[in-house]
Amino acid sequence: MRRQIVGLLVISALVMAVTATEVSAADHQEVRQVMGTLATVQAWAPDDPMAQAAVDTAFAVFDHVDSLMSTWNGNSPLSRLNAAPVATWIPVGHEVCHVLQAAIKVTHDTGGAFNPTVLPLVKLWGFRGGTPTLPSGPALAAALSLVDISQLQVADDQARLRRSGMALDLGGIAKGYALDRAVAAMLRVGAQGGVLDLGGNLFVFGQGAESEVGIVDPARPETLILTVPLSSGAVATSGQYERFVTVGGQAYGHVLDPRTGWPAASGFSATVLAPQALWADALATAALVLGVESGLKMLEGIPGVEGVIVGPDGIEVTSGLVGVAGPHRAQ
Ligand code: ADP
Ligand code: MG
Repeated sequence: MRRQIVGLLVISALVMAVTATEVSAADHQEVRQVMGTLATVQAWAPDDPMAQAAVDTAFAVFDHVDSLMSTWNGNSPLSRLNAAPVATWIPVGHEVCHVLQAAIKVTHDTGGAFNPTVLPLVKLWGFRGGTPTLPSGPALAAALSLVDISQLQVADDQARLRRSGMALDLGGIAKGYALDRAVAAMLRVGAQGGVLDLGGNLFVFGQGAESEVGIVDPARPETLILTVPLSSGAVATSGQYERFVTVGGQAYGHVLDPRTGWPAASGFSATVLAPQALWADALATAALVLGVESGLKMLEGIPGVEGVIVGPDGIEVTSGLVGVAGPHRAQ
């Protein structure tokens, strides 16, 4: 049995390393900048052209999802929905509607810790340009009044926002969706296995499976403090180190608490294992907002999902990982 490092995730202070146990036939790997982050895709296939095609297919899916759901691109269906007159139905297509429906479900399942209507807050805190400043109380209250999932409606490949000034941000879920679609596309072109890493979101399938994922201490990024098994499926990590604004010497992370309007606490990371990357991605964001106790409780309540939350007081894992997750073994 050969053990090799097949992927290394670097999320600023967060690093996850993956080791695969088996390799066969041809494999191909590429790293590209997509969806505002770095993506690494490795595919195993019967021959080189197929492995190359599988990798290309995955990157094409990433670009496609970005073109649909980016809020940085004013022409994406999501941006057109955000810019539409209040309460106007906008045809956004099947895929955007699928992700919006999933985002609504996660919002309910997490008691509002995840919420795709968070964009007014994201802008207020300076994550979309301008000089970041601490928001005033009235500004925070005004933005918070626009964070309301009940005012997002989705039907028949269309969506509408029922309050003036509302806007959606799928940054906490779209990369997971893109990974799921990329894996499906890779399988269609004959991939036998793959390891995909999209900015902190990981998917392992087929020959890339039976892997281990190392999670770093958010306070000591050079140290892997925990190893969790990943037999097949998705893992996502959310933390506040990857993207933040600095105001008065203080760092404010990009994951915001939709219930208070303030950034989730720094110094933590939340890692979620799930059969699908969409859920891992969104639930990791939610778990970071909820913090150790509530975050673990929320994850425990969702079948098929496990998680690890690392904070200043140590490591907490869901019950399905007790005795399975072990300290990192030096390589
Ligand atoms: P990353 O983008 O680094 O993978 P996340 O998956 O945690 O990290 O998503 C964070 C992004 O999601 C933010 O940059 C913002 O666009 C958006 N966001 C911030 N807070 C929330 C929240 N509470 N619920 C849903 N989306 C959020
Ligand atoms: Mg996320």
